[in-house]
Amino acid sequence: MPRDPRYDILFEPIKIGPVVAKNRFYQVPHCNGMGHVRPQSHAAMRGVKAEGGWAVVSTEEVEIHPSSDISPYIEGRLWDDHDIPALALMTEAIHKHGALAAIELVHAGMNAPNLYSREVALAPSDIANPASYAPAQARAMTKADIRAYRRWHRDAALRARRAGFDIIYVYAGHSLSLPMHFLQPRHNQRTDEYGGSLSNRVRLLREVIEDTKNAVGADCAVALRFAVDELRGEDGIRSAGEGREIVEMLAELPDLWDVNVSDWANDSKTSRFAPEGFQEDFVRFVKTVATKPVVGVGRFTSPDTMVSQIRRGVLDLIGAARPSIADPFLPKKIEAGNADDIRECIGCNVCVTGDYTMTPIRCTQNPTMGEEWRKGWHPETIPARTGNDSFLIVGAGPTGLECARLLGRRGYTVYLAEAGEQLGGRVTREARLPGLAAWARVRDYRLNQLNKMQNVEIYRASRVTADQVLDIGATRIVLATGATWRRDGVGRANTRPIRGLDRAAHVFTPEDLMDGRRLEGPVIVFDDDHYYLGAILAEKLRADGLAVTLVTPADKVSAWTANTLEQHTIQKRVLDQGIEVVTNRNMVEFDGSRVLLQCTYTERQTELPAASVVTVTARVPNADLALALADGADAMTKAGIISVSTIGDCLAPSTIAAAVYAGHRYAREFDWPPSDDAGFRRELPSATAGDVPASGI
Ligand code: ADP
Ligand code: SF4
Repeated sequence: MPRDPRYDILFEPIKIGPVVAKNRFYQVPHCNGMGHVRPQSHAAMRGVKAEGGWAVVSTEEVEIHPSSDISPYIEGRLWDDHDIPALALMTEAIHKHGALAAIELVHAGMNAPNLYSREVALAPSDIANPASYAPAQARAMTKADIRAYRRWHRDAALRARRAGFDIIYVYAGHSLSLPMHFLQPRHNQRTDEYGGSLSNRVRLLREVIEDTKNAVGADCAVALRFAVDELRGEDGIRSAGEGREIVEMLAELPDLWDVNVSDWANDSKTSRFAPEGFQEDFVRFVKTVATKPVVGVGRFTSPDTMVSQIRRGVLDLIGAARPSIADPFLPKKIEAGNADDIRECIGCNVCVTGDYTMTPIRCTQNPTMGEEWRKGWHPETIPARTGNDSFLIVGAGPTGLECARLLGRRGYTVYLAEAGEQLGGRVTREARLPGLAAWARVRDYRLNQLNKMQNVEIYRASRVTADQVLDIGATRIVLATGATWRRDGVGRANTRPIRGLDRAAHVFTPEDLMDGRRLEGPVIVFDDDHYYLGAILAEKLRADGLAVTLVTPADKVSAWTANTLEQHTIQKRVLDQGIEVVTNRNMVEFDGSRVLLQCTYTERQTELPAASVVTVTARVPNADLALALADGADAMTKAGIISVSTIGDCLAPSTIAAAVYAGHRYAREFDWPPSDDAGFRRELPSATAGDVPASGI
């Protein structure tokens, strides 16, 4: 299909200092849990983005010096020349597809834990890192330290050029770097020419941009990543105040303005809390102040929104981290006139959990993310079928839909049977909850693809029995029948049923609520799941006008969402809505009118009134069909069935991302011979040692 001419503007080249981006699609820096530890994986992942049409592909934060050691978090590293080859792998992979490679140099200042290097952290003033409870402070930098830092940055820029980078960043974003800490009065209490007035606080940032331009500016563009607003009112930089003044002061100095809001949780807001384009009000002034190209982000997945950003003069380049993770081929799809094939980011921040858990990035929508090198998975190029197998997939949740999509793409005959009228399983249910509508994209992308395939038949309202499995004529059976929330309270804190939860009329599961069952207040939501669902159900019940108390054995609401950058926002919303929060309490009994709670530390017990209890604790795999089939091995062999596999939530309940991954993995690997190995390539530590330091050992 030819490209829609309305989108032509997205494919105009943009000059950035001495280099030219071939179009306006710009993958801004994003972490990925691979970095300097897994450089092959990292290079392959970035290479796929370049292949997918992004004109610029950036690294994540890249440490410039041992005093900026971000371990245990895995970012890029460019401490000395030994780090150049690993980064050169990435620039080669990017250049192969005609894209520009950008590097975000960082000195993390007081945010550097320095646990590996054991250096003392640096800051404008003597200060403890407000983002950590670690019992260590950063020390105030002397003038000599400032000179040294400028030298480290300059040297790192020179090394970056040698590694092949085309765009070199100075980073003053997310409250994660020294130049930004110098800008912030709350962190900079200096009385010399680097503190006090705004022009003094901007001095270091200006110097570092000038140093970088002097060092590499003839060949490389120098970009400034700058947070124009910290969303913390008077206490922080505001785009209506100093944020704007700083842009005015430095307007023509960098070759590119990469602007956003700070901190990371504000910049990478989930779809639950912010719509596409949510940063526009903060960043739109930049183009009225600077003539240099401007890139910004806002979870852009719609080409119409992108065009509108450019036509209305908000941005010159469409920045994307998450949309490029969910669909590395987003630009190519628009270019080829296939915008409806875009796998749109759902804004869940599962990708962020890779950074927080120090493991390779993963994505709910794109199961190939992070697997490009170690498994050789490509998001668009899928191996054709290798035999004449046909498949019956039972259950059309995220597992079954992805499995059917990929087997269908490979060219196999697929029968997909779903018990319900609606497809999508848990995704369809959960997308009805407050703030989760965008999650339906997991279903919609896959259904859209399946509807284009002649070799996949979908049967709705078809609950499959063991007998039917024998009759359908498929050679391989895939059970993707999902899981059901427990009603008995068993979970992490309680490994035995909670007393009194057999009062069915007063006890509700998440499915009951998602299916519209009404209940009476006061309600206790007992959240022993610790992800998003408990708080969202509490929110829904509160919106229905009920008195709600959220009880959790954890010390926070939705504790695991710290890994998706949401915990603070979720707890704030719960409190703002008037939901009572009781932490560090286990629920041990319900008698129909009150619950008995027990302190997780002291075992002291308290009571709360409760007409209804909602249990968000654990799920039971829907294994009935698997069990029935297990008894009929002979009959199955007679029916020509080669294998029966249980995958996704019906094997072990987990995230939607894990369900999609399970479906995808089966479709690629179902005919692999059994093996005890890892099933992927590993990057092994090298036996090569770095230099002995000048001071000797
Ligand atoms: P997953 O996350 O693993 O995809 P879900 O719970 O979201 O799991 O989806 C499982 C789907 O399987 C649900 O839509 C459910 O209705 C369907 N299902 C369960 N048992 C059967 C069955 N015997 N026949 C057909 N569909 C089934
Ligand atoms: Fe988007 Fe979620 Fe994928 Fe991240 S994990 S890119 S937020 S769909």
